[in-house]
Amino acid sequence: MPQFEILFLGTGGGRFATITQKRRTAGIRIISNSLNMHLDPGPGALVHSINEGLDPQKLDAIFVSHCHPDHYTDAEVLIEAMTRGTTKKRGVLVAAKSVLNGSNTCEASISKYHQQMPEQKIEAVPNMKFQMDDVNVSVTEARHTDPDTVGFRFETQEFGGFAYTSDTEYFEGISRYYEGVRLLMLCVMRPTGKPWKGHMTTNDAIKIVEATRPEHAVLTHLGMQMIFAGPAKEAKLVEEKTGVPTVAAVDGMLINFGETIKIQTNRKTRQGLNKFL
Ligand SMILES: [Zn+2]
Ligand SMILES: [Zn+2]
Repeated sequence: MPQFEILFLGTGGGRFATITQKRRTAGIRIISNSLNMHLDPGPGALVHSINEGLDPQKLDAIFVSHCHPDHYTDAEVLIEAMTRGTTKKRGVLVAAKSVLNGSNTCEASISKYHQQMPEQKIEAVPNMKFQMDDVNVSVTEARHTDPDTVGFRFETQEFGGFAYTSDTEYFEGISRYYEGVRLLMLCVMRPTGKPWKGHMTTNDAIKIVEATRPEHAVLTHLGMQMIFAGPAKEAKLVEEKTGVPTVAAVDGMLINFGETIKIQTNRKTRQGLNKFL
């Protein structure tokens, strides 16, 4: 049976991981036999996509969770790819309000010119639900320095759900958005003991993983302090405290999400991707 492949084109987050490219900031590609989606195309999304052999012209959907550069900078070129060099109205752009319209904290992150290229544009606000092929998407709440930030939860018909928190701080009630998912990807910018407003530390991740108990948890969108603290060590801490298998994402990591969840960290570029590409 076809499954979903979740490829971490980038695993870095925050200003310093981005400007140094200590970790790539290209976001996450999610592919099944009928869907090809890109989540948070930060700087490098186009280049790393092509380097991995993933033709961005095959994209069906682009998700942009908020108006910070490590999440949106390559959105416009990916829209140009998705629309086959702007010749074809196709695909879906799903983006937070701020990304589409600007807000008190930022300008619109994607030009109006690019916003009208895809076949459909969805303004993502918390608790909204929509269907994409046979996947039910729900928009989750995030609390971040861009107040319009959202996360995304994907419920597949056959294999249950996976979700991505985007940048958020811990808040009362955050866990209810992720109850029942099998795979939870958390943006954990900061290690234990180094809290920063609007972001999660490993301790916050522990609270969410403890409350939701997915089959697997993944720490990603790692900031500079997290990288120096040792993401694998931080992931181990989550696993020890919760009993939930947890890994720190590395660039190029591939997750096969099907009846089982298989994580490949040591793959070579272009290896192990499915035949639909
Ligand atoms: Zn970020
Ligand atoms: Zn952010």
